[in-house]
Amino acid sequence: MTTAPTADGAIQTPPATVFRKGLALKHEVAGQLASDYHSGLIDRIRDTDYQRQVGRLRLRLAREFGFCYGVDRAVDYAYQTRRRFPNRSIYLTGEIIHNPQVNDRLRVAGIQFLSDPDCDSGALGPDDVVILPAFGVTINMLTQFQRQGCTLVDTTCGSVLNVWKNVLQYARDGFTAIIHGKVRHEETRATASQVLQYPGGRSLVVLDRAEAQSVCDFIRHGRDDDQFSARFGSAMSPGFAPHRDLQRVGLANQTTMLMSESLAIGDMLRLAMLDRYGQDDLDEHYRAFDTICSATQDRQDAVAVLLDRQDLDLMIVIGGYNSSNTRNLARLAGQRLPTYHIADAACLVSNHELRHRPVDLGQPALPGTEISEARATDWLPTDGVVTIGLTAGASTPDSVVGQVVERLESFTVETD
Ligand code: SF4
Repeated sequence: MTTAPTADGAIQTPPATVFRKGLALKHEVAGQLASDYHSGLIDRIRDTDYQRQVGRLRLRLAREFGFCYGVDRAVDYAYQTRRRFPNRSIYLTGEIIHNPQVNDRLRVAGIQFLSDPDCDSGALGPDDVVILPAFGVTINMLTQFQRQGCTLVDTTCGSVLNVWKNVLQYARDGFTAIIHGKVRHEETRATASQVLQYPGGRSLVVLDRAEAQSVCDFIRHGRDDDQFSARFGSAMSPGFAPHRDLQRVGLANQTTMLMSESLAIGDMLRLAMLDRYGQDDLDEHYRAFDTICSATQDRQDAVAVLLDRQDLDLMIVIGGYNSSNTRNLARLAGQRLPTYHIADAACLVSNHELRHRPVDLGQPALPGTEISEARATDWLPTDGVVTIGLTAGASTPDSVVGQVVERLESFTVETD
């Protein structure tokens, strides 16, 4: 420990060192990253117009899938951190990204998770290194690590920082940030905490159209504050007073939400403000910025293109069950054809049986809802050519997608 007592006897902690642009070891870890997450098979499918046919199996891969730029960078920085500090304790605040294979590899590399029950963030000090994840951390958490003098490796994605910039602007201008997101998602919690940097800064998280409708009803008719507070609870920032704080609102998103839903919620809020205050005063009461990240949007658009071909028998979406962007890709596909959200190749038990996370058709599952894995039988058509669409969430490495393709091909051979 490098702490030292000051003249008045208090323990003084050296200021935290923060790495925001990597640790100058990119080339040194590139080989390890490629060996852990790259797939030659997936490269070949990309090179053949994202299609592949083996026996009676015809695969169509979405043109944008898998690791996004933010995840790529976060995982890269985590590997660089391990290389740079081989003898220091390294911690992640929780999952670096929502992918079990990646998190498991980091555990094997000796990186500890502060979200584990036996890990005490209060005991960290200047000798410890903390990696902040791609979706960021709350202001409170950041302040705590800085106070403790930890070395910080900040992997917060630029697209998340862009959302923070917008909600900070709202708070500065006296607008409440309405965040379309999941109240317990790390990114949304971090975004909501940003407004607290301003006195009077407020936020409210809405999950879906139904919750947005309640907000709109309140804006139009000003119902009972207590009733509103009972419904939204911890989705409101501390001290939230609906009558006062729903007069001027600005929309923001968790970056991985379904774009179409965010746009619809924006329209609902704008119309409610229009009804309440009229066109002339609308700008004084409603603002919006599109804060869905381009990587999320590109993956959603690529699924729409696949679906528009109308030649798929079924769709497989690969990614962690707690990955918001993966679940939204599955929702998009599930509205059009049989869709299975699987975590990895092991979920493809046989050509008769498959384990999957049921798709949230319609509205997304409520935050905190335990979703148990389901089993599907006879999921793979047994006769003739079967055409499968394939995509993967922004936290799924190519290596996992490649293993799924190999498994699907093995079933084709079995069923030929
Ligand atoms: S999904 Fe978007 S916001 Fe999230 S890490 Fe990837 S690029 Fe960044």
